[in-house]
Amino acid sequence: VRIAVRQIAEPEEVRGVVRTWQVGGLTVGLVPTMGALHDGHLSLIRASAADCDHTVVSIYVNPTQFAPTEDLASYPRSLERDCTRAAGAGADAVFCPPDRAMYPDGFATYVVQDGLTDVLEGRSRPTHFRGVLTVVCKLLNIVPADRAYFGRKDFQQTVVVRRMVRDLNLPTDIRVLPTVREPDGLAMSSRNAYLNDEERGQAVCLVRALRRACALFAGGETDGDALRQAMRSVLEEAPLACADYADVVDPDTLEPVEVAAGKSVAVLAVRVGGTRLIDNMPVAGEAI
Ligand code: AMP
Repeated sequence: VRIAVRQIAEPEEVRGVVRTWQVGGLTVGLVPTMGALHDGHLSLIRASAADCDHTVVSIYVNPTQFAPTEDLASYPRSLERDCTRAAGAGADAVFCPPDRAMYPDGFATYVVQDGLTDVLEGRSRPTHFRGVLTVVCKLLNIVPADRAYFGRKDFQQTVVVRRMVRDLNLPTDIRVLPTVREPDGLAMSSRNAYLNDEERGQAVCLVRALRRACALFAGGETDGDALRQAMRSVLEEAPLACADYADVVDPDTLEPVEVAAGKSVAVLAVRVGGTRLIDNMPVAGEAI
């Protein structure tokens, strides 16, 4: 059965719909995405539908978070299929703005954040978080949701978004949900579609490296460098994989830890063939 979902392209229209719900005393959840929806996205939509009276899913491939050399043009787009999936998971509306509605001529105002955006992903992708924070701030203004749902898979994104919401007094409650994985452990990602069979087979090295760090920590290893080296050794076993970074960091500062604690997070970014993948796991295990 196909379930209908309301597709809204204009910011003023979606804000009006959301305001009407809220004036009626109903709560609203927002799930920001770039589309090509997979089970990771659907888990966020289901969580919102369970917590909130109404759920808006935004589907917008945000150009400002891509560097000129990155995959903006080839990023997978499947709006009709996404709308059916979003509706099936409990969405009431899909906000899918055109670029001219988000970045009109003369657009000149960005959200930048010091510190947390300079490391890890920010070191490899210097303008990425400026684009992410700008679009998330805009989406939270357009859809003034009670709650917004993000995936743990993009760990640094959750940290910088929470910091922006705190620093700028944005009134939305940020919720972070666990990483949804394929049966072999690979974190679901829209970019997994770029992998050929051989690359897909080797992409499991990311989660293997994270699990190795967890196993060592469980066995009593707390030396940060030993954990980092162990992750690198796992990644080196996959000939098509090239590590961008593999680190163990403090979840509050994102700084590398000398001595790992229960809250420390193993994080990595790895190029598998031509595709850059990221993943993370608390060294104490994914259950916490
Ligand atoms: P994206 O469409 O990649 O921008 O992701 C939209 C949201 O879905 C972000 O909050 C992501 O962290 C989240 N997400 C992406 N992949 C997963 C996954 N495998 N499990 C849980 N959440 C995810």
